Amino acid sequence: CGIVGYVGPGTPSTRPLDAALDGLARLEYRGYDSAGVAVVTPGGLSSAKKAGKLANLRQVLAEHPLPEGTASIGHTRWATHGAPTDVNAHPHLSRDGRLAVIHNGIIENFSTLRSELADAGVPFTSETDTEVVAHLLGRAYAGDLTDAMLEVTRRLEGAYTLLAVHADEPGVVVGARRNSPLVVGLGDGENFLGSDVSAFISSTREAMEIGQDEVVTITADEVRVRDAGGSEIQAPRFRVDWDA
Ligand code: GLU
Repeated sequence: CGIVGYVGPGTPSTRPLDAALDGLARLEYRGYDSAGVAVVTPGGLSSAKKAGKLANLRQVLAEHPLPEGTASIGHTRWATHGAPTDVNAHPHLSRDGRLAVIHNGIIENFSTLRSELADAGVPFTSETDTEVVAHLLGRAYAGDLTDAMLEVTRRLEGAYTLLAVHADEPGVVVGARRNSPLVVGLGDGENFLGSDVSAFISSTREAMEIGQDEVVTITADEVRVRDAGGSEIQAPRFRVDWDA
């Protein structure tokens, strides 16, 4: 399974949507059963997902093209909760459809959170543990996706790499991790997130390590990292010097 995120203009031949698909292709070696992407454009969010290989997702995108977007996230799933179906594939969306989240790992306390949300009248569309995160983020969102992520991750137990985008913040991807990997790729006028550096190594070798329980916010020209309490920290940088 794998996770990628991208904010930037892309290149003339590779736009944000392609950047996500390329990153997922480089993470295919990790194994997966479904794949999906979301892109944000100023004012909007679009997503596509499909069980099976990345080629199946590309087929869906060929039939129903998405905008290239200003930021993108991409996911390959290794199902733990819910069968490997189209509906259970990620991204999962908030109820208003303006926020998308992808997740690798397991939310151990999802059933408690799911009952609480169901009691509040939130309808669930999938069998995944991940969908609770989409609804919690959607309900916590008050104009700042980083704040929403900090608030929601305090309630989660288990293992996760999470990435989220919101239609109101078209140049932002927010990530969080616990017991599951997440690294940043530092580009020139573009930035990347990945489960590992192979996701972005063909574009940049400058990287940043995200530590346990930290939350990272990337834009095209800025990377900010916060600890679980919300205080900004300096994350360690490193250079990837192995051959890709
Ligand atoms: N637990 C989540 C699911 O089953 C994520 C699995 C993964 O790591 O890809 O959808």
